[in-house]
Amino acid sequence: MNVLVINCGSSSLKFQLINSETEDVLAKGLCERIGIDGSLTYQPAGKEKVTTEKSMPTHTEAIQFVIDALTDADRGVVKSLEEINAVGHRVVHGGEKFANSVVITDEVISAIAECNDLAPLHNPANLIGINACAKLMPNTPMVAVFDTAFHQTMPESAYMYGLPYEYYEKYKIRRYGFHGTSHSFVSKRVAELLEKPYEELKTIVCHLGNGASVCAVKNGKSVDTSMGLTPLEGLVMGTRSGDIDPAILEFLAKKENLDIAGLMNVLNKKSGVFGLSDNLSSDFRDLTAGAANGNKPAQIALDVFCYRVAKYVGSYTAAMNGVDAIAFTAGIGENVSIVRAKVCEYLGYLGIDVDTEANAKGGEEVVISTPDSKVKVLVVPTNEELAIARETVALI
Ligand code: ADP
Repeated sequence: MNVLVINCGSSSLKFQLINSETEDVLAKGLCERIGIDGSLTYQPAGKEKVTTEKSMPTHTEAIQFVIDALTDADRGVVKSLEEINAVGHRVVHGGEKFANSVVITDEVISAIAECNDLAPLHNPANLIGINACAKLMPNTPMVAVFDTAFHQTMPESAYMYGLPYEYYEKYKIRRYGFHGTSHSFVSKRVAELLEKPYEELKTIVCHLGNGASVCAVKNGKSVDTSMGLTPLEGLVMGTRSGDIDPAILEFLAKKENLDIAGLMNVLNKKSGVFGLSDNLSSDFRDLTAGAANGNKPAQIALDVFCYRVAKYVGSYTAAMNGVDAIAFTAGIGENVSIVRAKVCEYLGYLGIDVDTEANAKGGEEVVISTPDSKVKVLVVPTNEELAIARETVALI
């Protein structure tokens, strides 16, 4: 079966066509600047990537171009639309309504729309993608896979904020968590690699990308995660602040004469390692190079980032009353060995011992702890698209 995996943003759309039997990516690509001008980047497996300018007033045109590219006589990978058997959509927020992936129906579309308030930048865009596909491929079954669903197993003690209860009742203000597809995929893979039953392991997954979160997975269930109502809470990220004293907002608003939108802009776009490094970069390639050349703010950014990850790992070890394995994933987790080394240095008290040579590898599945280490430490590349394709096949 061929599954088209769609990740739709407000002006972009990422896609992959995956053969579910072989789990090979047949083709992948990206539409950008939808609603502005538009371009399609398309790459069939084993062939070169080509970007073409195309007019894309809406996501419907963008998806039509994707279908045209996939079925093109020359560079296409399937003969016709009939060979695309299902579509799996990434949906950011499923609120408390969705604890699992679901086949998309009119009721599901309405329920996703009811979560728009909780993710105003993401859910409406995800719905536009769903509606555009429904229009162009009315006979193809579609599945929604939610970033929040995996974390619906968190206990109240982990998901309630210390705010008046009525705000939870009235507005559903609570912690939801994100990156659930990745945390689920990686924690399952850890169990496979360690040849242990998933239901008996205590794993902490550090998904360290531009957006970053840590998740405690106990006996196959998420019991806590660092992102909250929105993806702003928790770790220091590329440009997001993560946890701060909430009273800083009032202080900054007065000092810098900022309104709510201005404050949110600072917290989402100007903070994190980017802001900490005195605007050097949010990219760890630049930060590690800067720090190596003696750039002090770059060094501070790296130190703060690693310390915060270690603090979360420590607190999740307490939350689970122990930990068997720690996994690093996503752009930074997979590629930046100094970050892994530094985080693990803080965790020596857990009996963690990192094999320096194995840690220098990264970028592939590898156990980086020594055979004697009390807790196994691994690098496990995440693959959210494959996870979405698997969920889609399982449901239809
Ligand atoms: P997201 O999906 O949240 O955009 P990714 O998981 O793709 O993020 O991670 C992107 C980040 O990972 C980059 O900003 C960069 O900091 C880091 N990164 C990716 N590749 C490398 C690499 N080869 N070396 C160092 N850092 C890398």
